[in-house]
Amino acid sequence: MYILLMGPPGAGKGTQAERMIEEYKIPHISTGDMFRAAVKKGTELGKEAKRYMDSGQLVPDAVTIGIVRESLANPECKNGFILDGFPRTLEQAQALDAILADLGIKLSGVINISVADEKLVGRVTGRRICKNCGSTYHVEFNPVKVDGICDKCTGALYQRDDDKESTVMKRLEVYHEQTRPLIEYYTQQGVYFAIKGDQPIDKVFSDINSSIKGMNHDNN
Ligand code: ADP
Ligand code: ADP
Ligand code: ZN
Repeated sequence: MYILLMGPPGAGKGTQAERMIEEYKIPHISTGDMFRAAVKKGTELGKEAKRYMDSGQLVPDAVTIGIVRESLANPECKNGFILDGFPRTLEQAQALDAILADLGIKLSGVINISVADEKLVGRVTGRRICKNCGSTYHVEFNPVKVDGICDKCTGALYQRDDDKESTVMKRLEVYHEQTRPLIEYYTQQGVYFAIKGDQPIDKVFSDINSSIKGMNHDNN
C-alpha cells in the first residue's frame, strides 16, 4: 500500500507512522526526519535545510522534491510506503504525481489528520523525542515512565529546535497557506481520507486502520 500522511505540525503524523510501520511492515519516509538527519550530519543539505526549519519556513521545493524522488526510487519502496510530511505544496504534489507515474505506482490513499490550531501549539511545545530510536513522546499526553528516558531503548529525550512557540505559529501559518489546499487536490483525485486527530492515540490509529481497509489496494 502506498500512503501519504498529511496534517498540520503536531497532528500526530509521526506518532501514527510509528504504529503503522509496525502493523504493515512498510518503509516510513519522513522528509522532516531526513532533513533532521542531514542537519545532524552537517551536510550541505543539512546546512541549507536548517535555515528554513529554524524559522518555520518550508525548505525549497526543488531540494525537497529531489530527496523524495531518490527515496522512492529505492527498491525497498516498491511494495509500499508511508510518506509522512510530503507533499506540503501544490508543486510538490504535482511533482509526486509525476514521480509515481514513472514508477508505475498509484496512491492507495491520502490520510489527513486534523486538529484545531489552538491544540496544536501545546502538542508541539510539549513534544519530546528519543535521541537514539526517534520515538515520540509528550510531556503531558504521552509521557515516559522514567523522566527524560525513552521507554523503549533508555535513550535520552530531546526537544526539537523548531518546537518553540514562536516557530510553531509560523509553521501553522505556512500550513494553512501552502499545505491545506492539498485537501482539495486529493479529494478531486478520489483518494482523500479525513481522520479526527483530537482523540486518544489508539483511537486515531484504529480510525486510520478502518480508512486503510476502505482503500483500493489493487490498483497498481
Ligand atoms: P511536523 O512533524 O511538525 O509536521 P516535520 O518534521 O514534518 O514537522 O518538518 C519539520 C520541518 O522540516 C518543516 O517545518 C520544514 O521546514 C521542513 N520540511 C519537512 N517536510 C517538508 C516538505 N515536504 N517541504 C518543505 N519543507 C519540509
Ligand atoms: P507530527 O508528526 O504530526 O508533527 P507527532 O506525532 O510528533 O506529530 O505528535 C506531536 C505531539 O503530540 C507529540 O508530543 C505526541 O506525543 C503528541 N500526540 C500525538 N498524537 C496525540 C494524540 N492523539 N493526543 C494527544 N497527544 C498526541
Ligand atoms: Zn528510544
